Amino acid sequence: MKKITILGSTGSIGNNTISIIKKHPDLFKIIALVANKNVSIMLEQCKCFSPNWVAMKNEKSADILRIKLKEKKIKTQVLSGKKAICALAALEENDCVVSAIVGMAGLLPTLSAIYAGKTILLANKESLITCGYIFMNALSSHKAKIIPIDSEHNAIFQVLPQFLQNNLGKVNLKKNGVKSIILTGSGGPLYNLKKKDLRFVTPKQTCIHPNWSMGKKISVDSSTMMNKGLEYAEARWLFNASANEIDIVIHPQSIVHSMVEYIDGSVLAQLSLPDMKVAISYAMAFPKRIVSGSNFLNLKKLKNLNFFEPDFLQFPCLKLAIDAFSSGQSAMTVLNAANEVSVSAFLSSRIKFNEIFQINSDILMSSSFLEPTSVEEILEIDKKTRIKTEKKILSLAH
Ligand code: NDP
Repeated sequence: MKKITILGSTGSIGNNTISIIKKHPDLFKIIALVANKNVSIMLEQCKCFSPNWVAMKNEKSADILRIKLKEKKIKTQVLSGKKAICALAALEENDCVVSAIVGMAGLLPTLSAIYAGKTILLANKESLITCGYIFMNALSSHKAKIIPIDSEHNAIFQVLPQFLQNNLGKVNLKKNGVKSIILTGSGGPLYNLKKKDLRFVTPKQTCIHPNWSMGKKISVDSSTMMNKGLEYAEARWLFNASANEIDIVIHPQSIVHSMVEYIDGSVLAQLSLPDMKVAISYAMAFPKRIVSGSNFLNLKKLKNLNFFEPDFLQFPCLKLAIDAFSSGQSAMTVLNAANEVSVSAFLSSRIKFNEIFQINSDILMSSSFLEPTSVEEILEIDKKTRIKTEKKILSLAH
């Protein structure tokens, strides 16, 4: 039986993970659950699993949860704050840790699990792309393992040879028969909108994805295609891929979740309905396969599988992220921080949709930091960029 801690258990990835565990009580045991402030979902999860530990980032939410658990006579210990979250990520009992907190808030808990040598099932791409080399190096030096949950990276992982699966980020792709990695992306909910109309897009429109059901931040990132840019960076690190070894294609149906092209001309792809449970269950049960709860693909009912070149003019955030990656780690960390702040401002209707790119781009172009060599330096870049981006947003006040 695998013992699991879920960071971000109340979110979209967290809930999908929980539904898989409910199907397989003989295979998985929950040790600890972590969230920010969603007491009602956390209470339901505690009723169902009685984990040993829960940590809420928000102290008041932890207090309320404690009272409610006591009323229900559930013995789960409730902690609060960042340190407690990091402690639960590193618990000795954990075999694996699902990293599914949204944004940079996931960095320290994910690193904590890495330092404790755990197997990380990684959804929180922000922690990897803001730390890059430091993150990958920590995996090696602490003998921690990583299995990607992000559907594209999970698809690539599924069709890689075993040697590459076991040595993610460490070995040369070409020497192991891989010519390139092909990342697919649906184009998001605004794919068919004209550029001039993007100005009027509302937060609600960005959160109605045609194929996937996800948290708000990643939904906005999918609409700008910043998400594909962050995934590009994630793939560069995870698979040790050079710029020439990665291609991005728009695939509106979200059936082919990504592909690997081999040097003999073969292309291996992973197909399924767009349901995160497929990727999550694969990561959880690896190297075995288990029932995920996803419906099955009916190939005879598929009308088209289309693939297009991405349009950088329509999706400038995608190009911005690719360029930031090639500029270096500090640029990527700056872009991620600026993007988290601008997306949050868009979701609270403080800026317009097309200003997300404008703000991200202005902040990136006007920032210059030395290349970070430690997590502390990464956090400092992140903090300074958030302050600068907030100021920029205030200066744009409509
Ligand atoms: P959600 O917004 O749905 O969930 C976020 C989770 O993180 C919630 O449990 C939330 O708790 C918790 N959280 C937020 N801030 C903190 C904090 N400071 N400390 C502790 N917990 C916190 O996000 P998603 O599930 O959509 O995404 C999670 C990650 O997975 C992101 O990095 C995303 O890019 C990645 N991902 C998501 C996919 C998807 O299909 N959703 C697909 C691929 C990757 P609370 O509910 O209490 O606020």
